[in-house]
Amino acid sequence: MSEKSVDKATLKMIKKAGDDNVKLAWDRLVAQQPQCGFGQLGVCCRNCNMGPCRIDPFGDGPDTGVCGADADTIVARNLLRAIAAGAAAHSDHGRGIAATLYASARGEARDYPIKDEAKLKAVATEFGIVVEGRSVQEIALELAGAVLEEFGTKKGSLQFINRAPVQRRELWDKLGITPRGIDREVVESMHRTHMGVDNDYTSLILQGLRTALSDGWGGSCIATELSDILFGTPQPVKGVCNLGVLMEDQVNIILHGHEPTLSDIIVFAARDEELLAEARQRGASGINVCGMCCTGNEVLMRHGVPLAGNFLQQELAIVTGAVEAVIVDVQCIMPSLPQIAGCYHTKVISTSPKAKFPGALHVPFDEHNAMEVAKKILRLAVENYSNRRREKVSIPSDRMEYMAGFSVEALLAALGGTLSPLIDALKSGSVKGIAGVVGCNNPKYRQDYSHLTFIRELIKNDILVVATGCAAIACAKDGMLLPGAADEAGEGLKAVCKGLNVPPVLHMGSCVDISRILTVAAAIANALGVDIADLPLVGAAPEWMSEKAVSIGAYVIGSGIFTILGTVPPVLGSKNVAALLTSGADEVIGAKFAVEEDPVAAAELAVKHIAGKRVSLGLKA
Ligand code: SF4
Ligand code: SF4
Repeated sequence: MSEKSVDKATLKMIKKAGDDNVKLAWDRLVAQQPQCGFGQLGVCCRNCNMGPCRIDPFGDGPDTGVCGADADTIVARNLLRAIAAGAAAHSDHGRGIAATLYASARGEARDYPIKDEAKLKAVATEFGIVVEGRSVQEIALELAGAVLEEFGTKKGSLQFINRAPVQRRELWDKLGITPRGIDREVVESMHRTHMGVDNDYTSLILQGLRTALSDGWGGSCIATELSDILFGTPQPVKGVCNLGVLMEDQVNIILHGHEPTLSDIIVFAARDEELLAEARQRGASGINVCGMCCTGNEVLMRHGVPLAGNFLQQELAIVTGAVEAVIVDVQCIMPSLPQIAGCYHTKVISTSPKAKFPGALHVPFDEHNAMEVAKKILRLAVENYSNRRREKVSIPSDRMEYMAGFSVEALLAALGGTLSPLIDALKSGSVKGIAGVVGCNNPKYRQDYSHLTFIRELIKNDILVVATGCAAIACAKDGMLLPGAADEAGEGLKAVCKGLNVPPVLHMGSCVDISRILTVAAAIANALGVDIADLPLVGAAPEWMSEKAVSIGAYVIGSGIFTILGTVPPVLGSKNVAALLTSGADEVIGAKFAVEEDPVAAAELAVKHIAGKRVSLGLKA
């Protein structure tokens, strides 16, 4: 069983699930074997009803679909559709936050006051909005309007791309991949991949980069920046992580999904005296709100809310038998949850009109009436405490402390208000480079193993790690987000971390917060007067699984950062597409992908790449 995870709490709950006769993602993966080889290679197409078609990878069967599309076209179209789906997910999240800001500014969402006025003014100024002599509401209203316009902008390019160095922007222009409007890129990608439109794999991949850039420098960036304005910009915060954060004697609530709009208000609602009294009446000593996946990261970054785990632990939290409610919004929520909840007393409560789950209770969330709905949902959880079946409860004791909350602003504050100390450390070689390690879990791979092994190798080699999403949660569970983890780093990085009292792995937030990493990369490049592609940086997604991760990978290389994938993407059915992504892209966009399942070998690639970039910059390797 240990091949399923390196996390002890996970292994204990997998065992309990077996005892309770509950099927988990790992079991369903086994039931899927053998998985379809055509799908793994990306050579099947269902884009019209002359199909489905598939290309014979061995060359003995058909080499085109009914319409004549070959493997290159089919693989590239499938990849572009995955990027469009990922970009749509992040960007629709961003749109939701922008709509909340708009409602807040109009006085229609009284439970969402603006928490960071300084950031509101800074972002508004970026958009060319006058801030002097105007009220917070006026500025917020104009900013929300300007941001909502970014989804279908007429001006021809997105605002936040101006953060990128001029060299990068000129390259995007030259290649014709400057993102125009967020919705426009997603829609155009769906148009191009319709039967009989764009059939040139290079053209399709370039549109993939443009769509992904509309995510990284558009939708994700909007989600991050406006969330900071509305909910507060994260500052270093301490908390506790893993399934051991669940409490035997409290009403346990798991917040799962992605958007902070709901989760943030639940955190405050759970402090309501009436609800606490009701919980006590039912024999609980309190209400314990915990996070899961990226919504967990949102409330962890801003409030230090305990984090129950990452992607592959969502089912296991229910298996503890100690969770009264799993409250979900959108993304990465396994459809299996209501079924598993049926084996215990847990209520799965869906809240988004975009994400309904057969077997779950649906309580529509309304930002205009947020606190009221939040309390209504919490009351359902409190009432459910009486239904807990004590004989089914087993909470693993595993929990770990962490330090998180490294927004760009917090990073700058830790550095004394400017990036110069970090740039000096890069120049001197005490920090050789920076790696952004992001992404999911995937039951095809041992949970957290690749994240942790890869990251340990990097910090040993004096590479500072910035992490988001489920990769960051893996680090939190393993103690890598504690300043003491610097003892595992190379001498240079260790000294820097000890001097600043920060961990060698900085948790920068949820998946949309990879935009924070782009912002830091751009700021360093601008300070040095070079392109992002010239910097000693790498990106990595060691255990990725989602279409959002495909979009992330594409915007990271589109931004000029070499990116290592630890799970194999479905592109190997086209030699041309695979070669373009892993080699040719370097000449075109200044970065490429590598695919390496072995995290030690992946770290060697990262170290070598960073050493090469350092030499090109005239620095000691
Ligand atoms: S678009 Fe072409 S390859 Fe795809 S299903 Fe239709 S006929 Fe087949
Ligand atoms: S890292 Fe992946 S699995 Fe985890 S929340 Fe983000 S997209 Fe979902």
